[in-house]
Amino acid sequence: MADAAAQNFDLEDIRTTLITPTAPIQSATHGGRAKCLQRLARLDLPVPRTVALSFDVVHEIAHGQMPDIPDLLSKFDPGALLCVRPSSEDPDWGGPGTVLNVGMNDAAYVELSDRIGREAAAGLYQRFVQSYAIHVARLDPDLFDEDGGTSGSEGLSAALAAFEEEAEEHFPQSPEVQLAQVLRSMARAWEGTSARLLRQARGAPADAGLGLVVQEMALGLGRGECGSGVFQLVDSETGLLQVTGRYLSQSQGREALEGQGAIFLARDPRGPSLEELDPAAFAELKSHAALMRRRLRAEMQIEFTLENGKLSILDGVVVQRSARGAVRIAVRLCEDGIITPQEAVLRVEPQTLTALLHRQVDPKAARDVVGQGIAASPGAASGRIVFTAADAQASQSRGENCVLVRRETSPEDVRGMHASVAVLTERGGITSHAAVIGRGIGLPCVVGAARMKLSPEDRTLRTEDGRVLTEGEIITVDGTNGEVLLGAPKMLEARLDDAFRTLLSWADAERDIGIRANADTPSDAQTARNFEAEGIGLCRTEHMFFEPGRLTVMREMIFADRADDRREALERLLPMQRADFIELFRIMQGLPVCIRLFDPPLHEFLPTDRQGLRDLADALDLPVSVVTRRVREMGEYNPMLGLRGVRLGITVPEIYDMQARAIFEATLEASRDGAPVVPEVMIPLVSTRREVEIVRARIDAVAAAVRTERGRSFTYRLGVMVETPRACLQAGEIAQHAHFLSFGTNDLTQMTYGLSRDDAGRFMSDYVAQGVFPEDPFHRLDRDGVGELLTIGLERGRRGRAGITVSICGEHGGNPDSIAFCREAGFDYVSCSPFRVPVARLAAAQDAIRHKIERS
Ligand code: PEP
Ligand code: MG
Repeated sequence: MADAAAQNFDLEDIRTTLITPTAPIQSATHGGRAKCLQRLARLDLPVPRTVALSFDVVHEIAHGQMPDIPDLLSKFDPGALLCVRPSSEDPDWGGPGTVLNVGMNDAAYVELSDRIGREAAAGLYQRFVQSYAIHVARLDPDLFDEDGGTSGSEGLSAALAAFEEEAEEHFPQSPEVQLAQVLRSMARAWEGTSARLLRQARGAPADAGLGLVVQEMALGLGRGECGSGVFQLVDSETGLLQVTGRYLSQSQGREALEGQGAIFLARDPRGPSLEELDPAAFAELKSHAALMRRRLRAEMQIEFTLENGKLSILDGVVVQRSARGAVRIAVRLCEDGIITPQEAVLRVEPQTLTALLHRQVDPKAARDVVGQGIAASPGAASGRIVFTAADAQASQSRGENCVLVRRETSPEDVRGMHASVAVLTERGGITSHAAVIGRGIGLPCVVGAARMKLSPEDRTLRTEDGRVLTEGEIITVDGTNGEVLLGAPKMLEARLDDAFRTLLSWADAERDIGIRANADTPSDAQTARNFEAEGIGLCRTEHMFFEPGRLTVMREMIFADRADDRREALERLLPMQRADFIELFRIMQGLPVCIRLFDPPLHEFLPTDRQGLRDLADALDLPVSVVTRRVREMGEYNPMLGLRGVRLGITVPEIYDMQARAIFEATLEASRDGAPVVPEVMIPLVSTRREVEIVRARIDAVAAAVRTERGRSFTYRLGVMVETPRACLQAGEIAQHAHFLSFGTNDLTQMTYGLSRDDAGRFMSDYVAQGVFPEDPFHRLDRDGVGELLTIGLERGRRGRAGITVSICGEHGGNPDSIAFCREAGFDYVSCSPFRVPVARLAAAQDAIRHKIERS
């Protein structure tokens, strides 16, 4: 209020403002649409008279306090028809649908019939009654079928009669009543729970405001060339320059995009165009669009009408665009000198990049197609079937890829969608909840697979050819072509196109924190390389022992009683492990590769079912009873806090000896035909300095032995994974024996909260829903608690050893907010899953740019 007074604005002017070039309108108070209309007015474009209602006014309307409606109407010509559009702060947050032709009543019908003809006037009135009945009076839509039924004056009478019957009152004739009801229903819709959850899923704060704009209608109906359409200079999907949109004679709103008989805008071999029908209007539109692009510094979509050849610009919104389109548009705006590289970097939402980064099913792979639906969000992913959002979260916390299969999704499923690699729904279309959210978060998604039969009660999914799939079976969702495949066919890795590379090169120029990838396999490493990761920040070696042919040897090693027997089994694993590392080093040639020594409890490698125990007894030539007893004896009450990580390194040191030897021999091998490799060896789950001293002494001894045996020298860097709270507190001591510290934020979060990574999914939704946690702390780093431990660890570590490299390698490394935390805290790099590398590069650059802007 003080601000308004200081700026000498009448408070009423701010709340209910005629949009003029100088009116006090801001996106933060009136929404993006109102602000954009003001910019169009400043460009002197032919925008009909428009009044903006501020967020405050709309909030009050939702709670029953109406503004002065006669005063609002007095700002327009008497008898004018109006439309009301939503104006949220960020147009991507959505809002209630536009309502056209407010003010239409029996008297206006008579007057309009003279002006535009009886049939056209009746059609307009009928459409208003229908839309008012459904969206404002909330009557049964089936009674007011907007597409079918009769039209003209007969249709109008039927619609009015249906309204009277259902609402038990006459259709309101007073423009004041109509406008007040339209405003009230739009304001209330915005404050409803489902609208709130939907916009929150799109990144809006819970209390985001809604403005409304009330605009005089330019009818698009009548004598001479009348009609409406939408126009943009680029293709939304590809981002390439191409006039796109449609025009429909005698139409209103966005009917041109749906209605029969719409024509192209630019000349087109496929059919008639506006360019041929009305070359002057087309040329005028094109020049307005170019002016808007230059001055509003964005690709805009124009909503326009023609009235007897006279052009009106009703609205301008930033064009809807796919992730690929967004990248190309931002790059070209910059190359055309309209925006700076920094602005281009800020224009692309990092999370949406995932859509460009997903694997595709290899076209050469065999496809066992078991269902077909609508291709709603591109990319393909394979995972185990889960039927509820809670199961999806539990699956994620176990580190298992899952596909969420639902009849249709609702806002309550959003968290489960985040936890899944893909989504499949039986119902729904391209704009269904699953499709919208899937595209928003870059999740492969097939919707409306109606010929597959889902039975949530008995947790089965019947395929189109009658096979019955149960929970846990692996399927692949191909969101690029809408197919559902059984199993996990071979995938093709994603690659970056030129615009993408250009944008990320601008991002890299601004970025001041390193980005590495967590990569365990050659295919992960290749993806990391394709996405220009600056090295591997975490290679979890234990996955390598689960491969066929290795597991049995591994089990023999685990069962060995004596160190010599253990060593003998490990000697058989050594060449396999060495081959793994040679491949990784070759793919990453010239870049650092950080290999984490063995981490999980050994009994994870032992069988639990009868058949597995029998197979193991066969392999070891022991009675099943002995094997069963030994396996039972090795079980732990709390394995995540038991004999794992460095504790194995201390008590069963032969495993780390073998791994260190494999790493060093691979180093020499891979350095033979390329740049020298400097491996990084990392010790997991450390909590004391003494653990590091003991393990380091053994690794140094292995390095010395390999140097002597091979007669060649090499260097390596030793690091400690800081993932227990004690290690954070002791980081100063620990750092004295390490070249680098890498914070494992998964375990650190688990141990800081005392919250099991594997079980948290069961109640996380409740915790977040009740606001106990603002967000799942395994997903977004808890800045307050875990963050404080990180800061303490970082400061003490740097004090213990000046210049020590400090990083994080938990899942948080790919989360934009967590990356921002690490950047601001002064970490050297973050390491995240390979597919999140481009997202992380962009997010880190955006944070750096925002800070620069704040400081300047
Ligand atoms: C961690 O704990 O953060 C980590 C990266 O290791 P893992 O997830 O393998 O326990
Ligand atoms: Mg860990």
